[in-house]
Amino acid sequence: MSPSSAPCGRSGSRPAAGLSRGPAAGVTRGPARWPAGGQTQGHTGGLARGLASGLAGGLADPGRAELFSLALRYGPVTRGQLAEWTGLDASTVTRSLRPLIDDDYLRETGRPSASDQPVTRPAVAGRGRPVQVLSVNPGRHVALGVKVGPTAVSAVLTDLAATVIGRHTVPLASTEPSVALAAVCGAVDELLLAAGCDRADVLGVGVGLSGDIDPGSGACRLSAILGWRDVPVREPLAATLDLPVVVENDANTLALAEHWFGRGRGVRTLAVVTLGIGIGCGLVLGDRLHTGVRGIAGEFGHLPLDPNGRVCTCGARGCLEALAGDDAICAVSGCESVAEAMRVAAGQGAAAERARSAFRGAGDALGRGFAGLCNLVDPELVIIAGESSAAFGLMEPAARESLAVHGFSGIASEVRIEVDAGQEDLWTRGAASVAIRAGVGHL
Ligand SMILES: [Zn+2]
Repeated sequence: MSPSSAPCGRSGSRPAAGLSRGPAAGVTRGPARWPAGGQTQGHTGGLARGLASGLAGGLADPGRAELFSLALRYGPVTRGQLAEWTGLDASTVTRSLRPLIDDDYLRETGRPSASDQPVTRPAVAGRGRPVQVLSVNPGRHVALGVKVGPTAVSAVLTDLAATVIGRHTVPLASTEPSVALAAVCGAVDELLLAAGCDRADVLGVGVGLSGDIDPGSGACRLSAILGWRDVPVREPLAATLDLPVVVENDANTLALAEHWFGRGRGVRTLAVVTLGIGIGCGLVLGDRLHTGVRGIAGEFGHLPLDPNGRVCTCGARGCLEALAGDDAICAVSGCESVAEAMRVAAGQGAAAERARSAFRGAGDALGRGFAGLCNLVDPELVIIAGESSAAFGLMEPAARESLAVHGFSGIASEVRIEVDAGQEDLWTRGAASVAIRAGVGHL
């Protein structure tokens, strides 16, 4: 297959039976970046059996899956680096990798160069004679990432490196679960059809939504934004799409995307904080996404900060989200939106001062939240993302001041706080990342 041909080298994908489809309009293509290759022999049918065992091919072995996920996250890599990182001896690594090379998951791409050195994993000293480096073939499979929001279902088709190949958005007339899930199926079918992908090419479908997700059943226990309570998500989608489906809280999907493919590559402990109507947080602790026993870890927005503060959407008083979320900024500034408050804050006069005061107040609360977060988990990096992340600059001085006051033992000066201002594909790429993680058998 040449790089200019359709990504999956096939024409037409079988629409799944069951739920009705959403509108077909709105497909746009991402960058035309698709490596040659992508054979799928021997993999038909296996993926639909579920994600627990990883890919139907060579990744079913947990040790091999770990090696592959390291190559995916930190590649190009050498066999020596993989041996050092995993503690396996070199001959075991070589033997384990052989099926992945034979099956075109990994390619030998020449000798290491300066630009090939992973910048992320713990440094590995020079290991003597020049050796071949290994790179993942990102076109070996595709993944889908879907974000279910209150007004639309957005979806992307990506390669194994979470690089976006296609996008599709379906507006939602209502958040009724049957309507939203049908839109998810419609978006998935449309993307596969437009890219010429067969279901056998698909590693899995990741679905991200704001709410409390049961990690066992993939059901949504509660989503205030969608108005859902105890809504099965994974099972009906998997049955209708005939594909593996993984459902995850949307902030967790972002944390995973940053950790595997973004600013957090190689950072073992980090937090991604999302600013917007809600304030979310995904945690990576010790190189693993931390979701907690019930799947609700990282409910940063509901840290109780002020017993006399505004009432939160959760019903409690003075949560961080009630003090620093969009509604709080709008209420204090008297503006209709955070974007308007930003414009007003840049001006002069009483309205501008009121808007700046709103951002200072939100920043102060955010800084106390950061202090709680840092004192508890001691992250190396905090990434700010989400719809209102562009306003963080107006909150940052107060946030840093408050973090300095409440952060323990100098942590305020050591933790890195960075803004990921990228908005396009933010959530959908995150959702695709959880499908990729599950599909390669990484725990
Ligand atoms: Zn709350």
